Amino acid sequence: MIKSVAVIGGGISGLSAAYYTRKLSRERGIDVSITIIEQNPRLGGKIQSLVRDGFTIEQGPDSFLARKVSALDLAGDLGLEDLLAGTNPAAKKNYILHRRKLHTMPPGLMLGIPTQMWPMMKTGLLSPLGKARAAMDLLLPAKRSTEDESLGGFIQRRLGKEVLEHMTEPLLAGIYAGDTAQLSLRATFPQFLDMEQKYRSLILGLLASKRPAVKPAAPAGLPRPALTSMFLTFKGGLSVLIDALAKSLQSERLITGTAVRSLASSHEGYELLLGDGERLKADGVIMAAPAFAAADLLCDVPEAAYLKQIHYVSVANAAFAFRKEDVPHDLKGSGFLIPRSEGRGITACTWTSSKWLHTAPEGKVLLRTYIGRLGDQRWTAMSDEELKARVAGELRDLMGITAKPLFCELTRLPQSMPQYPVGHVEAIQKLRGKLDKAKPGVQLCGAGYDGVGIPDCIRQGQQAALNIINTIAG
Ligand code: FAD
Repeated sequence: MIKSVAVIGGGISGLSAAYYTRKLSRERGIDVSITIIEQNPRLGGKIQSLVRDGFTIEQGPDSFLARKVSALDLAGDLGLEDLLAGTNPAAKKNYILHRRKLHTMPPGLMLGIPTQMWPMMKTGLLSPLGKARAAMDLLLPAKRSTEDESLGGFIQRRLGKEVLEHMTEPLLAGIYAGDTAQLSLRATFPQFLDMEQKYRSLILGLLASKRPAVKPAAPAGLPRPALTSMFLTFKGGLSVLIDALAKSLQSERLITGTAVRSLASSHEGYELLLGDGERLKADGVIMAAPAFAAADLLCDVPEAAYLKQIHYVSVANAAFAFRKEDVPHDLKGSGFLIPRSEGRGITACTWTSSKWLHTAPEGKVLLRTYIGRLGDQRWTAMSDEELKARVAGELRDLMGITAKPLFCELTRLPQSMPQYPVGHVEAIQKLRGKLDKAKPGVQLCGAGYDGVGIPDCIRQGQQAALNIINTIAG
C-alpha cells in the first residue's frame, strides 16, 4: 500500500527532508507519495539569492560551514560540486569596531575566543585589565554542574566581561542576532561546555580542538574550494541549492502559496487543512516550518506550548553596489562586526566582493550591511527609504563612503532568527518524546530546534526523513 508523507515548509529543512524521504524510500523499496506545502509562492525560505546587473546578492544566508559535511554531501548528491565557491584567500582579515575605530581581529581568535597569547597582548580591543582577566581562564576551575546556562554568562565566567562584549558577543551573537545573556549555551555552543569539563580551560580546549585528530572526512572528489575554505557557497548564489532540490523533487506534489492551517489526528493517520480548503491525508508529517508555526499546528499537545517561547528576532540587510573608484577604502578583508555597546544602526558589514570574488563585476564593489538584533527592533518601524538612508549614513561614518550607490537592495526578514532559551535542548527532547507517543509519525525539523546553520537544517531534514521512513515502514 502506498504511504503518504506531507512536508510542511519549503525552506532548506523541508526540501532536504523531502529529498531524503524520497531517497530512502527508493533505497528500501517503500512506496511513498510526498507532498510539500509551502505558504509562500517561492521555495527556499530564508535562502534567497538575487542576480542583478552582474552582481550576485544574497538576501538571506551567504554561505555554509564546510566542516559540517551534511551540506557538502547534499551538494555532491545533487551534482553541484563544480559550482562550489570558497572565500577569497586574500581576504582573510576581519575587523571589529571598538570606540568608533576598526581593529583587526587578533589572529588565533576561534569562535570569538582568543587562543594566542601574543596577538591578544597586542590587541587594542581589550584593556590591560581585560587581558589579564581573559588569561585567568587558564587557571579558573571548571564549574561542577553541567546544567545549561546562558552563552554570555559562560563566556564572562571564563574570560571576563571585556572579551565577551568586545570579541565574542559580536561574532557569536551575530550568528543568532541575539543576546548572549539569553541564548542557551547547550543549544548554541555545546562544545564549550564539553571543553570546560574536559580541559577546565576554554582556551586549552579550543587549542586541542585545532589538532587534526578526528576531522570529519570531506566527501571524496570535491574541488579545491571545498577542501580549503572554511565557508562555502555556490557560484550563482545559495539559491542554486534550492533550485537543484526543487528540480530533483519535480515528480512530487508541490503546493506553493498555501499554508497549512491545522493538523488533526485520525485513526487513519493525519489530516491537514490547507489555506485553500483542501483536506490532505498523510501517514507521516514532517514539520519544517518555524517553531511558532509548528506550535499553532500542535495546539493539542501541551508540551508544544514551549515552541511559543522560542522568540524569533526580525532582521534586515541592505546590499549596496558601488563603482570601485567611489569607495575610499582598500577593502582588504572580509568586513567588520559591530558590538552592541557601540550603539550603531548596523550590526555588521560584509565586504562581499572582496570575500567572494564571483559576486561583483570587474571594477565594481558589493557591500552588505546587517540590521537588527534582539533588543534593537526600532528599525522595523522605519520606511525602506529611511532605513536605506540610515545605513548609508553608517557607511559614510565608518568607511568614508559619500558617493551615491549604483543601487541598494533592502531585504526585510521578519521573525527570522530563533533564540534558543536556556533549557532549550531539554524542552525539545521532552516535546519529541511526547510526540513519539501522542503523534507517532510527526517529526519536527528546522532552524527552531537543533541548530540554525544550513548544514544543521539539512542534517535535521535527513534525520526526520529517516525517522518517518522507519515509522511508516514499521
Ligand atoms: P525557513 O527557511 O524559515 O523555512 C520554513 C518555511 O516554512 C518558510 O518558507 C515558511 O514560509 C514556511 N511556512 C511557515 N509556516 C507554514 C505553514 N503553516 N504552512 C506551510 N508553510 C509554512 N545560516 C548559515 O548556515 N550561513 C549563513 O550565512 C546564514 N546567514 C543567515 C542570515 C540571515 C539574514 C538569516 C535570517 C539566517 C541566516 N542563516 C545562516 C540561518 C539559515 O539561513 C536558516 O536557519 C535556514 O535557512 C532556515 O531554514 P528552515 O528551512 O529551517 O526555515
